[in-house]
Amino acid sequence: MRVQETAWKPIRIHLDTSALESQVDAGQLTYLRDDVLQAAVRWLSNAVQVLPVEGSLRYEQQCAAVLTASGRCARVQANFQECGPITIPREHFADKEVCPSGRLAGCEVSSGGAGIPNADVGIYVSAVQTQWCTGTTVAYASTCRQAEDDRPVAGYFNFCPNRLSPAAERNWHQDVAIATHEILHTMAFSSSLFPFFRDILGTPRTPRNDWGLPPIQDGSYRADSSTLRVEDVDGLERRFIVLPKVVQAARHHFGCTSLEGVALEEQGGDGSAFSHWDARIMHTEVMAAESSAMPRISDMTLALMEDSGWYRVLGGLVASDGDSAAGHFVFGRGKGCGFLQQSCIIDSQSAFPDTFCTESQGDCSHPNAGTVGCSHDHLSLGACTNCLHRDSLPARYRHFDNPRLGGIAAYVGYCPTVEPFWSSGQPTFCASGGVYSDRTSQRFGESHGPASRCVLSTATKSGFVPPEEPQGTCRDVFCLEDAVRIRISDNNFVLCGKEETGVRKSVFGQFAGYILCPRYATICGQTGAEGPREGAECHFPGTHRHGRCVCAPGTMGADCSVLDKAANRQDFPYGLRYPQQELELKVGLELSRTEGLLAWPLAPALQSQPRLIQFKVDPATWQQFLSSLLGLLCPWA
Ligand SMILES: [Zn+2]
Repeated sequence: MRVQETAWKPIRIHLDTSALESQVDAGQLTYLRDDVLQAAVRWLSNAVQVLPVEGSLRYEQQCAAVLTASGRCARVQANFQECGPITIPREHFADKEVCPSGRLAGCEVSSGGAGIPNADVGIYVSAVQTQWCTGTTVAYASTCRQAEDDRPVAGYFNFCPNRLSPAAERNWHQDVAIATHEILHTMAFSSSLFPFFRDILGTPRTPRNDWGLPPIQDGSYRADSSTLRVEDVDGLERRFIVLPKVVQAARHHFGCTSLEGVALEEQGGDGSAFSHWDARIMHTEVMAAESSAMPRISDMTLALMEDSGWYRVLGGLVASDGDSAAGHFVFGRGKGCGFLQQSCIIDSQSAFPDTFCTESQGDCSHPNAGTVGCSHDHLSLGACTNCLHRDSLPARYRHFDNPRLGGIAAYVGYCPTVEPFWSSGQPTFCASGGVYSDRTSQRFGESHGPASRCVLSTATKSGFVPPEEPQGTCRDVFCLEDAVRIRISDNNFVLCGKEETGVRKSVFGQFAGYILCPRYATICGQTGAEGPREGAECHFPGTHRHGRCVCAPGTMGADCSVLDKAANRQDFPYGLRYPQQELELKVGLELSRTEGLLAWPLAPALQSQPRLIQFKVDPATWQQFLSSLLGLLCPWA
């Protein structure tokens, strides 16, 4: 038995922010509720599909005592409305019959309400200081109700007020990513949900006990070995997701065909361990335990959603012609099995020099940035995070002779990486300009804009002293089929072939020095379709796919340059750029109301095979359409 393709519909996420409204100030409320949360929900409901709830969504009032003879409920649980720090309104529950006397004659109804119309899941948002708001925790979330097929239907999402700075100082992309991250926790990505996952036929992946529940070990549900492999590595518990689509996506991403499981985070204790991807191999992914400057959604995360059995996603399956909603996630891409198995630093040398670095910044509490480098994705200038910690690092995370020396981020296993420079509380990107642009652009011939990427180089204009070692510079790049063209100055370019990674290319003209050729695939993708090309500019964190831009959560517009905030949405009703399955053509509505969207790349021809095209007509515009059609057919009428 297979569920019909057409039965799956974009998930309808009901955000209940009534608690939040009295917990934050007006500015934060507008920012969090109308901008951030809406942007995350809009992205998710376009990328994730579900078998829709029929009628209104109504939760069951959980029973506290069941009558053995009749199986009826004697009384509902006193705290049945509780959901983390939230109290779910009684109206969101279905009526429940209770028989407090134990006899059928004395049964009555514990009343509920009408439920939530047009919703497949309810997310209840709050901002209260709790025991979980420790350290750098910005927000946390969990599931609190599951449907009969175990799919989460209610969850809470709590912001930690002590970490909520004023809205004006916040980093938009990071905030939308945090919201997306937390909602994904409530939907599927959690060690407490993995034991409930189902296969494509709807059969539980973890065999159930007599009560229909997964087995319990050490006080929590334990997933079967077909979902999760547990290993003891030198006395440390490691867990690996071994689900089929996750493994398939990860083999493809890392370029490691023998990979059999994807590591989960082992650090961070109860709140973080085993409910995130291991940041050592998935740093910058949205489901890493610690938010990076600009998190991205990978095919592995989308695959995990599908492997839960509760969702279909756009993408997540490498085989599905790559029409994926995943973002520009290149950490570890194509690096092979060694990237997953070897130490990041071997004999004080980086095993993967374009991902991990070794230059020390001195004391971690007073870092002194040395050479300007390039972040692993070539999007930013930055400095190596290697520094001297106050204490020796845990033995398993020591990478250098000096036991105090290592990267700043614990979750990345103290592996040093080049991280973007920050300016005014925001990470800097070559695509958007940065603090170093004015000072150096003339001297090094730098340029900034959607097509600009960080490239290591010594190229310097005559009259200036060139650096001894190559350093990160922002340069316009253009992806060709088998080479990347890098701009030195106005009409002065260097061509780096697909197989020329690390090759020095001398520059000429008014400039002297050389370019160190970057890895073609990191900037352009395997075929050149992912990187900047002439006439196709995608603002990061959007990415090129099939000749058009796929926007990350929080951005929209043909080139993903518009922030998905309430104020912009009215100007961009069709401005979201996603894979084309969800395209809806509506008679009587203009496809675009903005000048920025003149080139609508989907019309008039569809280039791939959409699963479904919906053609909706509402009565008023249908009349209008008919009369205009009549006018066309019978111009004399
Ligand atoms: Zn998390």
